[in-house]
Amino acid sequence: MESGVNWATMSVMKSEVNTAIDGSPRNAMWNSILEQVQSETLAHAQMFVGPLGRGGLHWALDIARHLHCSGDKANGPCGVCPACLQHVIGQHPDLHMTFPVFKPPGKDYSISEHMLGPMREQLALNENFDMQDWRAKLNTGNKQLFISVREAAEIVRKLSLTAHAGGWKVLIIWGAEALRIDAANKLLKILEEPPKKTVFLLVAATTDGLPATVISRVQRWNVPPYEEHQVARALQVEGHEAAPVEDALRLCEGDMAVARRIAASPASAGFALYVEWMRACYGRAGQRITELAADFHDLGREDQKQFFDYALHMTRQCIVAGYGADSLVRLRAEELAFANKFARFIHHGNVSKMRDELEKAAAEIAGNVYGRTVFLDLSMKIQALLHIPQ
Ligand SMILES: [Zn+2]
Repeated sequence: MESGVNWATMSVMKSEVNTAIDGSPRNAMWNSILEQVQSETLAHAQMFVGPLGRGGLHWALDIARHLHCSGDKANGPCGVCPACLQHVIGQHPDLHMTFPVFKPPGKDYSISEHMLGPMREQLALNENFDMQDWRAKLNTGNKQLFISVREAAEIVRKLSLTAHAGGWKVLIIWGAEALRIDAANKLLKILEEPPKKTVFLLVAATTDGLPATVISRVQRWNVPPYEEHQVARALQVEGHEAAPVEDALRLCEGDMAVARRIAASPASAGFALYVEWMRACYGRAGQRITELAADFHDLGREDQKQFFDYALHMTRQCIVAGYGADSLVRLRAEELAFANKFARFIHHGNVSKMRDELEKAAAEIAGNVYGRTVFLDLSMKIQALLHIPQ
């Protein structure tokens, strides 16, 4: 299956470059960026903001390929000149990449360069991955990912050197929201007065947490979602089955990374646990709840948080399903089947309380409270709430 992935990305890339016919917001924005790249009027610091699976990185890489390509660029980067070939293997000397990393045990510090190998592998697979994919790739567990001040110093050093090929130096900061404040501050001067022929391309899921001084120095683009036909085509080329692809298209909101995960897994990660849990709570099955608390505990903190997010999503969707408004429900086919049955137990008499309790529990997990305790405590409350009559 994986062998087709690179080509899927390539085909999406080509379609973005070529299809002026598609008048979508996404293409309109890309065409306007491309015009600035081709006329060399693009401001030296750009930031692409939005869920990472919407392809801000893919755009950034495409800009780098445009700037570096020495061949015929009438239809996008030529793909055959030496610079294009260096890009294909992820080794163009004037493309620098910075991304969040973690500090491995026993190391004093960690910078992107230490994890270039996994990054190249990830990029060879596809350019539309998000932080969840990257965490999985690095096998980080619960470790924090960040861009450190040491990394920022490294950026300043690298960019002060002359370009190898004598042309543009491109620095991509992917996951820029993970810039630590001291790292962001260290970059301010070079962002303000960059060396000649240097372009900064920041890709961020959100600008929350980024200093205003950084945001004010970049030209910002809110990356629109991928069009449905683009997602469909990429998933198809990657060889996914038709049914999960339908689920993915309905649920991904133009996010290629989310779409790929939905299409690749037969069920939502939290679905089985959620169903078991709700049944046990409704049936006041104390023993079962204790077993599920152990399963929950074993998930680890990141997955525990994700499970509560999922539980919140499912709980809200049960209300929508309760209205019989199937077209508005954002659920996979099997989730919808459950929601339709379970919806009668979640109603206006208990839904806001359930939501509050789930949010409180998620906050406790984020605050490092013991997972088993949070789950058991929450289960008691959910049990009571599920038995409030409609
Ligand atoms: Zn080329």
